[in-house]
Amino acid sequence: MTDWHAKAAALQLDGRAFINGERIAAEQSFDKSSPIDGRLLGQVARCDAREAELAVQAARQAFNDRRWAGLPPAQRKRILIKFADLMLAHKEELALIETMDMGKPIRYSQAVDVNSAANCLRWYGEATDKVYDEIAPTPDNSLALITREPVGVVAAIVPWNYPMLMTSWKIAPALAAGNSVILKPSEKSPYSALRMAELAIEAGIPPGVLNVLPGYGHEIGQILGLHMDVDCLAFTGSTCVGKQIFSYAAQSNLKRVWTELGGKSANIVCADCPDLEQAVQSALGSMYFNQGESCNAPSRLFVERSIKDAFLARALELVPQYQVSDPLDEATVMGALVDAQQMRSVLGYIEAGRAEGAQLLAGGGQARSDSGGFYVEPTLFDGVRNDMKIAREEIFGPVLSLITFDDVADAVRQANDSSYGLQAAVWSGNLAKAHQIARALRAGTVHVNQYDDDDITVPFGGYKQSGNGRDKSLHAFDKYTELKTTWLHIGAALQGG
Ligand code: NAP
Ligand code: MG
Repeated sequence: MTDWHAKAAALQLDGRAFINGERIAAEQSFDKSSPIDGRLLGQVARCDAREAELAVQAARQAFNDRRWAGLPPAQRKRILIKFADLMLAHKEELALIETMDMGKPIRYSQAVDVNSAANCLRWYGEATDKVYDEIAPTPDNSLALITREPVGVVAAIVPWNYPMLMTSWKIAPALAAGNSVILKPSEKSPYSALRMAELAIEAGIPPGVLNVLPGYGHEIGQILGLHMDVDCLAFTGSTCVGKQIFSYAAQSNLKRVWTELGGKSANIVCADCPDLEQAVQSALGSMYFNQGESCNAPSRLFVERSIKDAFLARALELVPQYQVSDPLDEATVMGALVDAQQMRSVLGYIEAGRAEGAQLLAGGGQARSDSGGFYVEPTLFDGVRNDMKIAREEIFGPVLSLITFDDVADAVRQANDSSYGLQAAVWSGNLAKAHQIARALRAGTVHVNQYDDDDITVPFGGYKQSGNGRDKSLHAFDKYTELKTTWLHIGAALQGG
């Protein structure tokens, strides 16, 4: 059994930027501490205009001389797969970095974050030499090729809730398509992406092709957003910052902008749900996973009145299974929130729920306060109305809101009455009805009789203010490629023959 506390005590972290294959110290830095107990982890580069210029020039040069895009696709494939293998070879180290940096339980950092990030790199690596271009059905005297070309220099800005995974969702398809990438991790979780950049070089990705610039969103994030030599900006984060991201493109060079934003996903459990136990476990498990800091968390739980009491009774029995505990203990399922600010924000929402008349049935308070870290109990509200603040705004913490319904059409109407449209779910044993509901729900993904199933093969993204474009699957290539038509006049067909 790994002694995670000993490993944490010995952990040495390098917070310098990664530009053109090298570590670079920025002029300024900031202190980064761990949300699990408040300990100082180190100093992190506060990148600014100078580092942005170095990184954009390195990325542009690497793109122009085709040191990466010009490699045979089978070779790019091998390198990306090696990158994935190196991540797995460093699984314990990467998992520990993630847990120390943003507070999630070590069991999930290993089993979910490192594994899924490596799988994503491998999958797009594999795709590199398996995706074909097109020939259009044009007249006989011509040949029209429709090919995909890398868009150029891609800047990716990612959040702190799944730092390694969000990084790989951006960089894997962007690199597989032949782009150069500049990644800006969240100031709250910069370390795993920096370590990944070192592993990328070790795998054989040429210098300049993957650069990582830590720092503040309003500084380096904005500089990259406004940069005239960045061709594409892929963003995952809040809807509020997402709106600024579009304005950066409008104010600068109309760079391609792709956003994966917030959510307030509805989970509709009908009275004819085929497996109530499964529905209860899934409703809690998906909500409290990652301390509720998931964009697709099913935070609005709609339950039909005739099964509501049975559902709630079982849910309240199960909530204690999600008790917060030490993230470095392999048995722990709920860890720390990312920082004090996030904890205060979540506790503020809980207060708002009580003030608006929702009934607090479980949790509601801070936990483990003597640890020096930032923890909130798994929380469940009953008697929530869809117009309450806790049902309208993304809380990004372990707070589940139960809304009782009498009429399924009304439940669907309320589910859609949200500025967000990331995910949704319906539970019904009547598959025709479930399918009708799934069609009516305005969300990028609708789960039927489950919430947790997921795979790199399917697109991920939202309707409405949950963003545009899709991560994962072959559709992600749309974001990182331009479509080119090459029309050749080839003259009349050969006669005879
Ligand atoms: P955030 O505050 O929007 O920040 C996201 C990233 O943008 C961070 O790297 C941040 O840097 C940077 N940023 C902040 N202000 C910026 C600015 N003015 N210009 C350019 N960049 C700026 O979001 P967060 O709090 O980190 O993450 C939580 C949000 O992400 C939630 O809303 C969640 O739903 C969303 N999310 C969505 C998905 C999805 O796929 N739809 C997946 C995961 C998370 P700093 O860290 O320095 O502020
Ligand atoms: Mg932020």
